[in-house]
Amino acid sequence: MKFFKLFTPLKIKNMVISNRIVMPAMHLNLADNGFISKRLTDFYVERANGGVGLIIVGGCYVDLYAAGAPMMISIENDEYIQKLTEFTEKIHSAKEDVKICCQLYHSGRYTYSQVIGKPAIGPSAVYTRYNKSTPRAMTLEDIENEQHAFADAALRAKKAGFDSVEICGSAGYLMGQFLSPLTNIRTDEYGGSFENRVRFPIETIKLIKSKIGNDFVLGYRMAGDDFVQGSVSYKDKPDIAKKIEEAGVDYINVTGGWHETRVPQLTMDVPEGCFTYLAENIKNSVSIPVFSSNRIIDPVMAEEILTTRKADAVCIGRGLIADPYWPEKAQKGDLHDIMYCIGCNQGCFDNIFNLKPISCLRNVRAANEAKTELKPIKEKKKIMIIGSGPAGLEAARVARLRGHDVTIFEREDKIGGLINIIWIPPGRNEFKRMLENYNYWIQQLGIKLSLKTEVNIEIIRDFNPDVILFATGSKPIKLSIPGIDRENVYWANDVFLGNAPIGHNNVIIGGGATGIELAIYLARYGRLSLEAFDFLTFYNALESEIALKMLNKGNIKVTVLEKFPRLGSALGKSTKWVLLGKCQKLGVDLITNANITEIGENYISYKDAKDVDQMINNIDNVYYALGVVPNDSLFNAIKQLGTIDVKKIGDARKPATVMEAIHRAYKVANNI
Ligand code: SF4
Repeated sequence: MKFFKLFTPLKIKNMVISNRIVMPAMHLNLADNGFISKRLTDFYVERANGGVGLIIVGGCYVDLYAAGAPMMISIENDEYIQKLTEFTEKIHSAKEDVKICCQLYHSGRYTYSQVIGKPAIGPSAVYTRYNKSTPRAMTLEDIENEQHAFADAALRAKKAGFDSVEICGSAGYLMGQFLSPLTNIRTDEYGGSFENRVRFPIETIKLIKSKIGNDFVLGYRMAGDDFVQGSVSYKDKPDIAKKIEEAGVDYINVTGGWHETRVPQLTMDVPEGCFTYLAENIKNSVSIPVFSSNRIIDPVMAEEILTTRKADAVCIGRGLIADPYWPEKAQKGDLHDIMYCIGCNQGCFDNIFNLKPISCLRNVRAANEAKTELKPIKEKKKIMIIGSGPAGLEAARVARLRGHDVTIFEREDKIGGLINIIWIPPGRNEFKRMLENYNYWIQQLGIKLSLKTEVNIEIIRDFNPDVILFATGSKPIKLSIPGIDRENVYWANDVFLGNAPIGHNNVIIGGGATGIELAIYLARYGRLSLEAFDFLTFYNALESEIALKMLNKGNIKVTVLEKFPRLGSALGKSTKWVLLGKCQKLGVDLITNANITEIGENYISYKDAKDVDQMINNIDNVYYALGVVPNDSLFNAIKQLGTIDVKKIGDARKPATVMEAIHRAYKVANNI
């Protein structure tokens, strides 16, 4: 695969970016009391080494009112310049041609008053469910102060050696709040008409320019559509973009909607490149370069966006968390070698929302670069890995990269274990990328693979390994509910594997991650295919409204019964609301506090939250998703051999998330 656009330089005023790949600003929670930390520097040095053209760092809060969360980077006064300077020097010396931009951040009404010790400020006192509070409406003095805070911060960034600065005007932060009639209900010259609402950003841009000079590049990140009812849609965004350009901005970085939107922006089910039209919409109205963001995963898609002139550069954010060497590998054409981001958010956004430093499900090294270097081996060992789920595969990759002799034994006819199941539900398909990667690495690294092999003690004796990594995964929990052994009761995962029939009216016992994913899978089972939708609407064979309904859902009835008050317990914060929202839209009955009492031939009975007997009749099938326990029956027998170093990893050790399994496997394999 050759790229004709992706690796061409992009000139923005005096700044030449060596390629069209931009790492957008992302909260990483790696700063130390607002100061750049070593961990944060290591993170970006690795990304610079990987060949990205422009790194946008931040958001860097411009004053205390601007601070979004602890562990963000501050640029609120001169105290921070020293560390920021050391940082830019390190990045520039790691890779001479990489450009670094400082993103200037002000969260406005999204600021947590608990963090700053005083009420947040915003254009108007309009409640936000983001932090469940109402800000204080800014006075004219506040407006002037915050504009100066931006301009002073921009100058500090210039002094600290950044190549450019970018105003964070996206995601519903302060700039967007002024622009939106929903959050700006002022009656003075900063509210009301379009001209008035745009005044705050425009004045700020001009003030910044007056401080940093006309030659220093200033960018602006904006939401391409707020995706919030009553706020600014894509239709009005070009007018804003034109104003911003006229005010002196040198590029526009277009992203998706606000934090408050109910349209998923970053989860796995957001189709790749789904929001590129937003960048194109802006690009059609301005003459300065435009960047496109959100769910651009694949270099091939990145090239397509550039080729079709939808944008001048592409933002690869989580893609570079998952693999900092994405650009270098793409340029060499090693696309199979890229450790692709799967949009799970488990390590990145979920950690941010939980006020933890970022991490990555796929890339154990992300944000832990110094502590996770692969260790040189003392002696080459013969390693037997039993099971090829996420833990077994990652352990094999790491052990082999370090130089050990690695063989995977898998009882099925393909690798993947649990991954073969979790990629099946709608919107979870990105997990499949992991299989594609590991299949490639097995070939490339020379990992031996023995499929269709049910390991027993004899095989182990014959193989005679130095080390066994026991990664046999888990098996389902089956509670002793009367009727659980009936013929129409199946394990949830057997549906995904095609080993259980699908009824017309079904009940799922267990509303954890698997139960919820199965509910969506069943509710969408048998719906119109995308191809059929395309065909029927293209030829006007069916009204698009009817076709759309048929595309969205099938005709299967699903009820989820969950014992506890909450659903989706193991799902991360950024994914849970999306999946539960989907269930609601698809008409899935979600019943909590349900204690099952009996499964009958065509009914299920349970006690509800008030201990009242309830019954669901005319059901066809029942599927249970009640969690798993380690599948470790062979482990003790291996231990008894006494001669082999054997360690459990993954679910065989303790059922956990895929991320936990991978991270532990990496650690174990790096210490053999
Ligand atoms: Fe991507 Fe998941 Fe890693 Fe985040 S944690 S960067 S979403 S693979």
